[in-house]
Order: sequence, then structure tokens, then C-alpha cells
Amino acid sequence: MIFLDNASTTPVLNEISDLIAKTNLQDFYNPSALYSEGVEVKTKIFTARRKIAGYLGVEEGNIIFTSGATEGNNLAIFGLLTAKKDAEFLFSEGEHASVYNVAKALKERGAVVKFINLKDDGSVDEDHLKSLLNPNTAFVSIIHVSNETGSVNDIKNLCKIVKDYKKDILFHSDGVQALGKIELNVEDLGVDAYTISGHKLHAPKGIGAIYVKPVNRLKPQILGGGQQGGLRSGTENVSGILALALASEIAVKNIGRNYENAEIIRDIFKKEIADNLTDFSINEGNVNSPYILSVSFKGIPAEVLVHLLQKKGVIVATGSACSGKNQENRVLKSMGKSQELIKGSIRVSFSSQTAVSEAENAAKIFVEAVKELKSKMSKFSKKNSASLKVCGQ
Ligand code: PMP
Repeated sequence: MIFLDNASTTPVLNEISDLIAKTNLQDFYNPSALYSEGVEVKTKIFTARRKIAGYLGVEEGNIIFTSGATEGNNLAIFGLLTAKKDAEFLFSEGEHASVYNVAKALKERGAVVKFINLKDDGSVDEDHLKSLLNPNTAFVSIIHVSNETGSVNDIKNLCKIVKDYKKDILFHSDGVQALGKIELNVEDLGVDAYTISGHKLHAPKGIGAIYVKPVNRLKPQILGGGQQGGLRSGTENVSGILALALASEIAVKNIGRNYENAEIIRDIFKKEIADNLTDFSINEGNVNSPYILSVSFKGIPAEVLVHLLQKKGVIVATGSACSGKNQENRVLKSMGKSQELIKGSIRVSFSSQTAVSEAENAAKIFVEAVKELKSKMSKFSKKNSASLKVCGQ
């Protein structure tokens, strides 16, 4: 089986899995306990926090651990909400559901929420953002790397536009598909809040973090025992936190080599498709992460292609797994893609663990499956139009 749905999740690396097992067996003590075993575990959390902050290019005091990016995005947005009357909130059309649905919920509660258009390459339309800024704008959230297409937003520039307009507008970015994959220095981006998740970079599911500066600006959303300075109560997920630190370390240390590997793999796919198939569109940004390849085929139902590929041993996704239940792909729609192309959209996504030889194999299988399906679809439509003629006589 060749797994090419790494934007939805990634396999846990052996050394990370070993660390989790060891931590759960030996360092199971409650980090809030006063005895030395507990204190030792707390120290390990501090060290992990310092490491993660280092990989993000920020100070450790600005990191809060969460159960993943869904909680992280909710905490960053709800936690930084202003109670000011007439405050306006801007979200890009390209947000992951964990931001987009928060935006929709805010709107339903009566807040003024506006959506920033995407350009046809999937990145945020700067001019539209500028046109939406006004004295009431209080908060802007723009995804860093699209989980649908891999299109990279120039967060530093977008944040500068917002801050130049009005310094106290808060800027949040969802960096889940960025950490460990593209060069990153969160402090340098100039944002007030940033979200990451472990399971996109070979740590387990259920661990993530947000960066918030200044951290005391955040209103906690989970109240309880006052862990993490009272900003996010609940006994810390110790093995998850240590795993996130190790996963970030491995990803960041190998970032250049892995990026080149992902580029080679993405290009193998693009070439195989371009050389052998017609009627397709590659949905990519002018600047795009090589880890995600979104491709749409005319006249092919994406779900059928996904199942056929699975039978042939290759796992890919239709759009984002998190929006899998939605009939239409909101992000591709806002890029101006036709319904026909949206229905035939596939997301192939790679990780540091994807081997070039696997990708060569998978790309050939991919093309074979599309050809097979196209020929079936055309036989089917010929047969149908023939029977329609018979019926019409
Ligand atoms: N944001 C983005 C861009 C994502 O890709 C995902 C995962 N699909 C999330 C947020 C949610 O992350 P988690 O699964 O850690 O809640």
C-alpha cells in the first residue's frame, strides 16, 4: 500500500513511537505533583516547550499546548475575541473547517464577519483584503499553507498590510501544513497567534500548540486546575508534548533535504499526468508547498477514482479529509474552478517518508486508473445516449 494522504495525517515515526511508549511507562507522573517524579516530568515539558519555541523562532513563554489544531484554532480565535461593539472579523475563504466554522458560528451569534476572496491560484487576494479593512476591523485569520492545494500565503506581507492599516488589529494564522515543511520563523511573520498540530509531522494525533503574543492577552476557553498558567487547564498530554518536540526537531533539521525530495516526487506526478492525460487542471499557487498536489479531472467522479486507486494499492484523498462530508469543495470553488472540475478533484500529498521509487510506481498506477475510468465513463455515456435515442423513437 502506498500512502499518499499525508496532508490528512502521517504515520508516527518509530523513534517517536518509542519515546511515547517510554514516557507513558516511566514518566507517567502528574506534572503538577509536588514530589520529585512529578517535578521531573514538568521539567521535561519545559524542555519540550523551549525546543518547540526554538523551531518556531519564538519565545517559550508564548507557547500553549492543545489537543490539536482544531482546539488551537478555536482557542486562538475565541480567546482573542474582543467584546467591542461593531468589531469586525476577517477570515480567508481558504481556511480549514476548524477556522471557517468558527467564523460561521461568530456570524450566527451576530458578529460582523467578512470573508476575503482567493485568487485563482488559491492564495489570498491582497486587494480584496485591503478593501475590507476599516476602522472596525479587529481580527484577521489567514491560513499559511492551504491543506487543499498547498498554495502558500505570504503571511509576512499580509500581516504587514493589516498592521500598517491599524496596529492593534490581531492577526492569526493556521500553520498546520507549514511547520517542518517550509522555512518558518513565526516571530518574523509578525503575527499575534499561530497554530500547529503534531500528527501532520509524524507525531501522534491529539497534540498541538498555539503561539500567542503577548500570551496574557488570551482568555482561556477551558477552565479547570489552572495548568499552563491557567490558559489551558487539563493535565498535560506529556507523551504527546515530548513527541511534538521530537517530531519538530526531526522535521526542522531535515527540512531542506525533505523539501527537495517532495519537489522531486511532486514533479514525477505532474510529468506523468501531463505526458499521459488530457482534460485536467493542476490547482496550485504561484508559490506552492511541494507536499500537496491538487489535480482535477473533467468528467471523472473523484470518489470513484479514490476507490479504484485504493484497490490498486494507492491511497489518496478527494479534497480535504476534514471536509469529506461536504458535497462541494469550498476552497476550489472560491478559486473559480468549475463544478465539473471540483467533482473530479483529487489531493495527493507526500511526507518526508515518501520514497521516490514509491512515487514513481504510484504515479504510473494513478495514470492507469484515470485512463481506465475515463474509458469506462465514455463507454457508459455512449451506451446511455444510445438508449436515450431508442427511447426517443
Ligand atoms: N488546520 C489545517 C490546515 C489542517 O490541515 C488540519 C488537519 N486536517 C487542521 C487544522 C486540524 O488539525 P487537528 O486534526 O490537529 O485538529
